[in-house]
Order: sequence, then structure tokens, then C-alpha cells
Amino acid sequence: MRYVIKLPNANNHLINISLHVDNIDTDELELQLPAWRPGRYEIGNFAKNIQSFKVKDSGNRIVEFIKITKDKWKINTLNLSSIIVEYDFYAYELNAGSCYFTNDQLYINGIQCFLYNAHKLHQKHIIELNIPVGYKIACSLMQEGNLLYANDFHELVDSPLIASATLHHREYQVGNTKFHIWVQGDIDLDWERVINDFKRFSTYQIKIMGTLPVKEFCFLVQAPNQVAYHGVEHLANTVLYFGPAANIMEEKYYTEFLGLASHELFHSWNIKAIRPVEWFPYNYEKENYSRLGYVAEGVTTYLGDKFLYSSGVFNTEQYLKELNSRLQSHIDNFGRFYMPVTRASMDTWLDGYVLGVPHRKTSIYTEGALITLMLDLMIMKNSGYANSIESVMKSMYENYALKNKGYSEEDYMNECEIAATVSLKSFFDTYVYGADSYEFELTKMFEWIGLKMVYTNSKNPLERFGIKSIKKSDGYYVLMVAPDSPAEKAGISQKDILKLKDEHASLSEEDFNALVEKNDHTLELRLNLNEDQFKQLTLQKHSSTEYYRKVKLELLNDISSEQKEFFENWSRVKLLEEIN
Ligand SMILES: [Zn+2]
Repeated sequence: MRYVIKLPNANNHLINISLHVDNIDTDELELQLPAWRPGRYEIGNFAKNIQSFKVKDSGNRIVEFIKITKDKWKINTLNLSSIIVEYDFYAYELNAGSCYFTNDQLYINGIQCFLYNAHKLHQKHIIELNIPVGYKIACSLMQEGNLLYANDFHELVDSPLIASATLHHREYQVGNTKFHIWVQGDIDLDWERVINDFKRFSTYQIKIMGTLPVKEFCFLVQAPNQVAYHGVEHLANTVLYFGPAANIMEEKYYTEFLGLASHELFHSWNIKAIRPVEWFPYNYEKENYSRLGYVAEGVTTYLGDKFLYSSGVFNTEQYLKELNSRLQSHIDNFGRFYMPVTRASMDTWLDGYVLGVPHRKTSIYTEGALITLMLDLMIMKNSGYANSIESVMKSMYENYALKNKGYSEEDYMNECEIAATVSLKSFFDTYVYGADSYEFELTKMFEWIGLKMVYTNSKNPLERFGIKSIKKSDGYYVLMVAPDSPAEKAGISQKDILKLKDEHASLSEEDFNALVEKNDHTLELRLNLNEDQFKQLTLQKHSSTEYYRKVKLELLNDISSEQKEFFENWSRVKLLEEIN
């Protein structure tokens, strides 16, 4: 299979693709466009971007075809040994998993735009790029001039590419592994610092896992001028869509950038190599259900941040800030009482990437990370610090990935139990397969390492009455209303738009809070019914009942030597000295 890419007109954003199919030995040929992309477990409907689909034979004669599903074409290949399928693909969406073609760059995620023959996935697949002179190509595939070679379709669509005249490029080496950082965007990076930090977390991850699954790894960074935060994992590369480009070195953005990069690198092991058996191999045609999304994303979310801490890129304060934000998302979400992470892993296909209806679902990232944290601490405690979730991942890498097989739900629990040296069945039954509240367990386990969860009232008056919202120019857009809160009782719902009374609009949060307390815990609001019509609402709460409280981890004042020892073993301070 050979995909010839032409770029006739950047202004219409249509990538012209000619797929050359040779050695046809059947009377009919079915070609499929992937319906989803690994990394985002929902149907993507990429075929909606295809225009002017044509099929010709080697003599340029038209060949008949019909469409048999929303993304599958059946072609009449009677007496034909080769055909050319030509189509235009509309590419004007920029994120970490999209296609984007403008006068500045060509960016292809082949999973969106390359047709495949399900019976010939294991053939070599070649891309021929017809791109402007002077363009550089960033891609982890083997390159020869403008030709890119993939060993099979899986590798082809696991290898996004950026081609442009303005790509920035740096390299670094960790042992035998070479890393590339390619950036497309108007960046102003402190490269020395970036390379130093990337090298630290890469070194640490490789040290923990033994070897990276590939010899060379590419970070492909799309840095737009606006705020952006999105990453997509692949075996030999990752795309980080991160901005604003000009501000990446600002502390707030830079820590997020490092967090994203460390997370995505660990996915090279956990998800691309260590893969749930249901995704081994991927079936691109339809939903691939697995209850293990919480391992794929939860362990990666937990370890991605923790690796930055253990490798000395983050200090304790920076790391605890990340943990705090996971804890906050956890306690803010009332869906945690209804949906276990194993079910949330299935439901990404349903509503995993949208806000969703109120209090229905949980996040495989947030809940998965906190469950992993608890497993990590239990494994460490019961094994006398000999094992951890890191050693579980290493063992999974050796026992499954390197033996070329996927792992099951039982395999994961089994590996955790071997590391913990005790049964974890009741933990899994209660908190992984069940949705029982685990705040009590979490509080207890944080104490093992000398940390406590400290709760304070929200400084945001709306939150104190049960309203989670985002402020926009025309009012407060309601995201969530806490169950049984004064806000719910007043009839406020998700997606409502609220306004403060004019005299309150200019108050600082502090002054507004003081006013609310002075007025016996009442909050006056206007609900926007339509256009300029408003309904006056007065919310009243019991003085001691608070909603959307803030949670923060703090070190215990009187930390014991056992707690200190556990904290140091968990945070890997000793290992850090070893790296330095
Ligand atoms: Zn991830």
C-alpha cells in the first residue's frame, strides 16, 4: 500500500491522497477508514472529512465502487490486479490527534485519513510526500528523502508527521536511546532548561522500566499562539499540542508542559507496549471495549507526575500541587458515588470526553490516578518498600509487552498482589469494581507518609451555595450544581447562565463572601431566562453547610521517623541521589 500525498491548494485545506493498491487477488476489495483513534476511546467518524472519492485502474479507467458502511468502501476489482483510490481529505483542525494543512505546515495523523485493507494490515505501507522545497519532516517512521516506510498499518497510523519550513529541532541521548524534540510554532524556549528537564524524566523512566520499547523517540510539539493542552501517545513518538507558544517558559505553563511530556512518554510503555488484551491488536473499525482504561490512563497520570518529582524536575511543593488538583477533581465530582472506574473505562465510548449529564460518571484519569496511588502505598507498605506500582509496571512490561501479549483484568490484579504479597481482592472489589467512597482509605494512607488532607471553605461565593461555573463576559455559565444544595433547591441547573446583582458584580471574592455571611448566608442572583429576561433568585443556606470545599495536602506537624522513612521511600529521594 502506497499513499501519495499532494498539496494542490492550502487555502481549501484539502490533502489529496492517492492510495496505490497492488497485487489484488480478489474480485472485490473492501477498504476501511478507521472509525476511531487509539488514545481517544470514542467513535471519531473521520470519514466525514473525505471529499471526491474516485477509483481508477492502471489504465486510468474508472472502477466501480459502493459505500457499504459510513467508513467502508467496496470496490469491484474483477480482472484487476492494481487500482488507485484517490480522495481529498479536509484537514483544518489542530489538536494532538488531528490533520491540519495550511500555508505554514502539513500535519497528518494517518489514523484519520489513511484507508486500509483489513486483510493486508501486515504489509509494508509507504507514504510519498509531495511537499514544498525546503520543508523539513518530523516523523518517527524510517525516512528516505520524501518517502516514509512503515512495517505495517499499525505502525503507519501510530506515526503522525509534521512537515514545514519552520520546524525547530533538538536532540538528546539517554544511554542508547535517542530523543528528538520537534516544535512547530512561534516559540521562545530556554532550550538548555528544556533539554535538561526532559533528559531527567526520560532517564528516570528508563531506569525504572529497564529499556524504552523503541531505540528512538520523537516529541512532536504543536505550539499554537493560544492556550492549548492535549497530548496523544504513540509507541515511538507523541504529539503535544501545547500553548500559548510564546509563554511556555512561564512557570505556570512550563510545569504543565513537563507534566504532559512525562505522561505521554510513559505511555510508550503503559498502553502502547503494556496493552489490555482487548486492544491487542486494535480493531479500528468499531468500539474496542476494555475495563482497563483506568490502568492505561490512571497509572500513567499518577506516575507521569510522580516521575517528575522523583527525578528532581518538580520539587515537593510542585508535586503536591498536582496531587491536590487530582484530589479536588475527585471531591468535586458527585459521580464518584455511582460509577466505578472499570465502568468509566467502558463509557469513554459514550460520553468520556464531554462534560456529560450531572453526577453520572467518573474520570479514568482522576480516579484511576488516586486508586493507583493507594495501590502504590499498599504495595510498598506490605512489601517493606521492596515493591511499588513502578515494579508492577516493570513486571508487566517484561511478562506481557516483551512477550508480545496483552494483559487481562485478572493479570493486572495478580501482578499487584504478587508485588503487595497480600490479597487485594477486597480493595479491587470495593473501589475498582465498586464505587464505594474511598476518602477514608485515602486519608489513612496519606497519614502513612506523613501527609494530611486539609479542607477549607471555597472563596467563591457561588461555589459555597453549590454552583460550579465559569465566568464569561455575559455571566456565569453553570457547569455543575451540587445535589441537595441551595442552588439545586432554587432551581438552578447545568448550562444556566447567572448574573450577579449589579452592585455585587464589582466586589472582590473576599468582600462578596463577607457580605454573604453578614446577610445570614443568603445569595442573590439573577437567572438569565432568555435575551434580556431575568428571574430573581435568593439562595439561603445553613451557615455551617458548605459546598465545593477546597482540599490541600499538608505535611503533618509531628511527623514520626516511620512516616518520614515511608515518605522518602515513596518519593524516591535516595534514587534521585543515585541519578545525580
Ligand atoms: Zn494519557
